[in-house]
Amino acid sequence: MYNPKSLCADEFISHEEILDTLEYAEKNKNNRELIQEILEKAKPRKTAEGTVCAGLNHREASVLLACEDPEVLKQMYDLAEEIKLAYYGNRIVMFAPLYLSNYCINGCVYCPYHAKNKHIPRKKLTQEEVRREVIALQDMGHKRLAIEAGEDPKNNPIEYILECIKTIYSIKHKNGAIRRVNVNIAATTVEEYRMLKEAGIGTYILFQETYHKESYLQLHPTGPKHDYNYHTEAMDRAMEGGIDDVGLGVLFGLELYKYEFAGLLMHAEHLEAVHGVGPHTISVPRIKRADDIDPTVFDNGISDDIFAKICALIRIAVPYTGMIISTRESQEVREKVIRLGVSQISGASRTSVGGYCEEERPTDTEQFDVSDQRTLEEVVRWLMDSGYIPSFCTACYREGRTGDRFMSLCKNGQIQNCCHPNALMTLKEYLMDYAGPETRAVGEALIQAELNNIPKERVREIAKDHLQKIEQGIRDFRF
Ligand code: SAM
Repeated sequence: MYNPKSLCADEFISHEEILDTLEYAEKNKNNRELIQEILEKAKPRKTAEGTVCAGLNHREASVLLACEDPEVLKQMYDLAEEIKLAYYGNRIVMFAPLYLSNYCINGCVYCPYHAKNKHIPRKKLTQEEVRREVIALQDMGHKRLAIEAGEDPKNNPIEYILECIKTIYSIKHKNGAIRRVNVNIAATTVEEYRMLKEAGIGTYILFQETYHKESYLQLHPTGPKHDYNYHTEAMDRAMEGGIDDVGLGVLFGLELYKYEFAGLLMHAEHLEAVHGVGPHTISVPRIKRADDIDPTVFDNGISDDIFAKICALIRIAVPYTGMIISTRESQEVREKVIRLGVSQISGASRTSVGGYCEEERPTDTEQFDVSDQRTLEEVVRWLMDSGYIPSFCTACYREGRTGDRFMSLCKNGQIQNCCHPNALMTLKEYLMDYAGPETRAVGEALIQAELNNIPKERVREIAKDHLQKIEQGIRDFRF
């Protein structure tokens, strides 16, 4: 029985409810009146408290996903763009993944780190190697990382992950610092989530991979990850452990995208219903080629157009949830979807264990092929040339703006007085410490122009003062 408030995965991600939703969506995909009503409901509205968006539930959003009318599609794209601009402005937050270990006891059939892969070199960073990787990342200009590890209680126990987090936060090379560590490790216990929270992590990210239980069991035939319910209920345990920024994701290509889309939104609705706060982010990875993985054997791959439609509809359905696009996607695809609602992208990523210290991109321990192989400076420059502000901001969780406090910042429109100046100040740090003269010139002009878009005069004046101080060598200002 479908129940978003239940703590049992089979009830908050109900297979029957998803099938009913898909049938309802199919039946109504040409129902113009209903579609216009749904689009109307999702439009941003100005209220006394600021601009608010109602979002959409999984049924409404699934109707839009099923609709193939090009005119409606254009309306969806325009609306996604409008919502993105209302909440996230033209800021794009930057991050990089850091692979700690590829030891893994699971059998995920799409991942080259699966336990049966005997020829991939297994590697786990020592604390000295973590230090070297972090210095390499700091020297590029990164301030925010997502740490990644396979599941292996012997080789990668929670103590190892905690030690790495401690090492990462402790390194201050030149003007560099990693100010936010997000964590993408396997589902674990409330107690271990509490330890991660105490270690000062930002978001806990765990991809569901697929919401289709039967497929999930086949795609994860062995290892602890085989337990679908334990995996699907992980975010509830994370929240019980005090982590209130959690990141969802589906690995597109494994199952039918319409099924996954409904499941993803039901998961978001469940978190909101039980914990009063939805997911902080949603990631939309697609399967990529990897060591012994051929993505074409998975029959549910989606085209770039469907991918863009999914991104736009996520933006419309959950307007307060950040959306992440990784370097699995090419520059071209990223260009297309950023404007539809993406708020975070990775740059200069290496998906191998210890890859950042190498001159040449190593491929031996890579988790998957990286499509966008540009340097961080190239990505920063490209964003600025395309009218975006690359942001290295990490202020929110450091100022205690997590969970529903972040959501209310979004909802009452104060984001423009907070995230916008923070983006400009962290971009300034990047330009001063890591950019070449041309990028710096483009960035300085952008900062000057964007200062005018800080609504409150007092905030604008403080931001100008901080920018001057950054020029004098002081770092880490934030609102
Ligand atoms: N082991 C952890 C877990 O079980 O969630 C950490 C996650 S893993 C390092 C990061 C993510 O990469 C996985 O959740 C999966 O969605 C994705 N991934 C695995 N193989 C992939 C592939 N061949 N192409 C693209 N993404 C892949």
